[in-house]
Amino acid sequence: MKIFKFGGASVKDAKGVRNLLNVLQKTGYEDILLVISAMGKMTNAFEKVSESYFNKKDDLAKQVDSVKQFHLNIARELFSSKDPVIFKEINNLFNELNVFFKNNTSTNYNYIYDQIVSKAEILSTKICSYYLLENQIKNEWLDVRSCILTDKNYRSARVNWTATCKRINSKVERPKIYVTQGFIAGNELGETTTLGREGSDYTAGIFAYCLNADEVVIFKDVQGVLNADPRVFDKTILLDQVSYREAIEMAFYGASVIHPKTLQPLQRKEIPLHVRSFKDPLQKGTSVKKGLDLIPQTSCFIVKYNQILLSISDKEFSFIMENDISYIFELLHRHRVKVNLIQNSAISFSVSIEDNFNNFNALLQELTEKFRVLYNKDLILYTIRHYTKSSIKEIENNREVILKQLSRETAQILIKE
Ligand code: ASP
Ligand code: MG
Repeated sequence: MKIFKFGGASVKDAKGVRNLLNVLQKTGYEDILLVISAMGKMTNAFEKVSESYFNKKDDLAKQVDSVKQFHLNIARELFSSKDPVIFKEINNLFNELNVFFKNNTSTNYNYIYDQIVSKAEILSTKICSYYLLENQIKNEWLDVRSCILTDKNYRSARVNWTATCKRINSKVERPKIYVTQGFIAGNELGETTTLGREGSDYTAGIFAYCLNADEVVIFKDVQGVLNADPRVFDKTILLDQVSYREAIEMAFYGASVIHPKTLQPLQRKEIPLHVRSFKDPLQKGTSVKKGLDLIPQTSCFIVKYNQILLSISDKEFSFIMENDISYIFELLHRHRVKVNLIQNSAISFSVSIEDNFNNFNALLQELTEKFRVLYNKDLILYTIRHYTKSSIKEIENNREVILKQLSRETAQILIKE
């Protein structure tokens, strides 16, 4: 069995959905499970809906209507109006959303977010599944919320692997074709949860692991895994092969090609992962599997924006001790701040962080109660795997380096623009 994952960019419009059919016709589609994300930028659009709802903004109805029209327009392009089922499904989903708006009593933003944002994946997979059906690809739409069981950690829920594998194996029959959602899951209360932004790759990894799949293919708008982001670097090299370990390292440092949690379950069962272009699905792309770190051998560059460097020292000029560090990490964890780099000196402890949940001010307030805190915002963190002197020079390039750290395989350089 194969797991195919199609991201938002591959189904961003009607043309993308038609191309999905085209890809399947080229690659073959026996015994596959398709994991599909929200269409285009719909997750961002639904994030706006949940913010408007949560903050009781006046533009809620407008936001909802705009996402609804987006999906209806795609459906109108793909289906004739003589085919009312999909239109009914879309309308039903928006009715469900309105019922949620009316009945919800929770004030937990992360819970609300998951209930609302998940609709984007449901809409996308309904449209794709019907479209394939109409084009003689018999498939079953699978509700992933009843397959992947997670805890209640909304917006970055953790998977209960044993229960998930049991559920998946009881639902998936072979050989068949399934269409299911990425990124979203369900908890024991039957509520919807999500696995973290860009989590659809991870969903593909979970299904592959539980079903002992032969391979996972992630279809993207690039030819495969490149050694650097082509939006940032002029010259990039397509990697033919990347080891699991190297891919895990790259994802950990922020390479956005593969979601960081995807690889470990695949590595455990040695299930190969292929990254291919949805425009050119028969091209080889990149394989991630057991073996050499990188083919070809080259430096790989990873860029992270919006970094904040926090330098924490004692108010009385004494040393930052282990107990202080433990307290600092407790705070970082509690405020769900991501730490990308750590450096310790005699009198100050520095971390480069990412404030994905908008908690920086609250964190700062708590930190300053106990410590002297300096910070720098809007920094860029470059990570170079398999660095060379010249690759470091290329990044530094007369810019203001705020912090630099080298280990055997990895260089990290924090730069002020
Ligand atoms: N639709 C979700 C997101 O944009 C999940 C994904 O695309 O992987 O974050
Ligand atoms: Mg997406």
